[in-house]
Amino acid sequence: MKNKYIKFSSEKSKYLILGLLVLTMASGAVWLKYYSPYGPNPLRSSADEEPLKHWPYSTSPAVITLLDSSSNYWGKHLALAMKNWEKNEYIKINAVEGLPAKECEQMPELIHFCTVNDPNFFIAFGSYVSWTRTGHIIAGSFILNDYYLNNPDSPYGTSIWRNKLLCSNLGWSMGLDFRYYQDENSTTCMEALWVTERVPNPQGPDEVDLAQVKERYSSHADDTSSSSLSSITAAANLHLKQREYGDLVRSFGESQSVYKLDLGNGYEMTTIVQEKPFDLNTK
Ligand SMILES: [Zn+2]
Repeated sequence: MKNKYIKFSSEKSKYLILGLLVLTMASGAVWLKYYSPYGPNPLRSSADEEPLKHWPYSTSPAVITLLDSSSNYWGKHLALAMKNWEKNEYIKINAVEGLPAKECEQMPELIHFCTVNDPNFFIAFGSYVSWTRTGHIIAGSFILNDYYLNNPDSPYGTSIWRNKLLCSNLGWSMGLDFRYYQDENSTTCMEALWVTERVPNPQGPDEVDLAQVKERYSSHADDTSSSSLSSITAAANLHLKQREYGDLVRSFGESQSVYKLDLGNGYEMTTIVQEKPFDLNTK
C-alpha cells in the first residue's frame, strides 16, 4: 500500500515537472518573440501568414506620396532621407507641401509627416493603417518632436539625430521593420536601439534596408484604383486622438513600443511609439 502510494506520487510529480517545463518553455518563447530585443523576427511574429507591408503600386518605381506638414527645420533632412531611400530606384517619394497641422491626421493614400513642439509628447511617433490580407498600407502618419530634436539643450537636438529619426520613421512608414539587434558597427538608420553615449552614425538605410524596399516594391503590380477609404481613416484618426493604440505586440526596452489595433473589416492600425530615453534635465 505504501509502495503503491509512493509510486503514484512520483509518477504525478513527473508529470508536474514535465508540465512546468513545457509552460516555462512556452512562456519563454512568447517573451522571446514579442518582448526580447533578440527576438528572431521583429514585427513579423506571424510572419509566415502575414504579407509584407507596402503601399500598393502599379508602376515602377512605386510612387509614394508624402504630405509634408513639418516645421521649417526639416527641409534639408527630408531631402536627404528621400534621396537615401530612393537610392535603388524601386520607389519614388513624391513630397507635397502641407500645412502645419494641429492634429496629424491620416489621409488615404499618403504618408503625413508632421512635427510638434511638446515636452510631454514622444520623441517620435508613427502609425499606419493596412489591409491585413494584402499588407497594403492605405494611410500613414509620423510625428517628430521639435522640443527634443530642434533644441540646443537636448542631446537629440543635432542634425545627426534628426537625420536618423526622419530616415527611420520614413522607412517604417513605407512598411519596413526596425532592425532589432545590437551591433556597434551597424550602418542602418533602422536600428531600433537608443544608445545615447554613441553617436547614431547610421543616418541612412543600408543594403539590407534597400533590399527590403526592393522586396516590397518590385515583386508585383497592384490594382491601385481606390475604393472609399475615408471611413477607415476617420476611425483611425479618432483612435489616435484618444491615444488608443490597441495591444502591445512588441517592446524594445523602455524606448520603443509597437501596438496593433483591429479596425474591423480586415483593417488594422499599427503604431510605433518612441519614448525619449531620459529627461533633458538629466543631460
Ligand atoms: Zn501589393
